[in-house]
Amino acid sequence: MRLDDERESGNVEDLRGSRRRLPIGGRGAVGGIVAIVIIIGGLLLGVDPQVLLGIVGGVDGPAPQQQSAQMTSPGTGGEGTDPQRRFVAQILGSTEDVWSEQMQAIGRRYVAPKLVLFTGAVGSGCGVAQSAVGPFYCPNDQKVYLDLDFFRELQDRLGAKGDFARAYVIAHEVGHHVQNLLGLMSNVQAARQQLSPSDRNALSVLVELQADCHAGLWANHANREKHILEQGDIEQGLNAVAAVGDDRLQRAARGTVAPDKFTHGSSAQRVAWFSRGLQTGSMDQCNTFKKQQ
Ligand SMILES: [Zn+2]
Repeated sequence: MRLDDERESGNVEDLRGSRRRLPIGGRGAVGGIVAIVIIIGGLLLGVDPQVLLGIVGGVDGPAPQQQSAQMTSPGTGGEGTDPQRRFVAQILGSTEDVWSEQMQAIGRRYVAPKLVLFTGAVGSGCGVAQSAVGPFYCPNDQKVYLDLDFFRELQDRLGAKGDFARAYVIAHEVGHHVQNLLGLMSNVQAARQQLSPSDRNALSVLVELQADCHAGLWANHANREKHILEQGDIEQGLNAVAAVGDDRLQRAARGTVAPDKFTHGSSAQRVAWFSRGLQTGSMDQCNTFKKQQ
């Protein structure tokens, strides 16, 4: 990607650095936040989909466990010198520019999300989350959470190389924020209560595919305005999207594929929706909830 001239967003909160031990499940410093709450919006990496059921930013996750986790607290961020942080801030800044315009076009104001960098575990408005859940968006506090180790995993374990693959991850989470601003998250949360587990999964897939489409839409506009994409970037992005498809992750984890347990969509679905956003750059084209022909 060509990002030399991209501004850095001021919305990165760097919680890496100094650490303290945090008892989770207790009634201590975190006021009894339920442990290991997983939030919709993760890219689902190595996490049993069952764990993700019934959450959507709520606190009905697994029962609290008496254990402690490494938790980061505000520390010294490596501002200015850390190329990964700079990259994240530039991509986030680019999403702010694109989505401000998009929202303005439909008569709405874009309130940018914060992006929290952390290591190990983090306290969020959706509870305490471990890095293992992958990057996620919490609608309650409107923040994207990212442990940069995920980028290494994306490359080494999932074979998704390149900076556009990493940009896609950020743009996907920001895509969830857009859904939240549009009121979709609360609608989904309400609808989920009435649904069977497999229908809940199907609904989750629609939410995730739309976030993929939003990620593609961002890339379309960022490239149209700033020419950020270079030769090979699109292939890298599509490769990353395919790498986080449920079928591929399930097959890698268990050797079998169970479509009713999909929560994010198959590789083919994810690639299709990301491509649709990328090619059209149109929010109208990202309506995964509309019956498809
Ligand atoms: Zn997601």
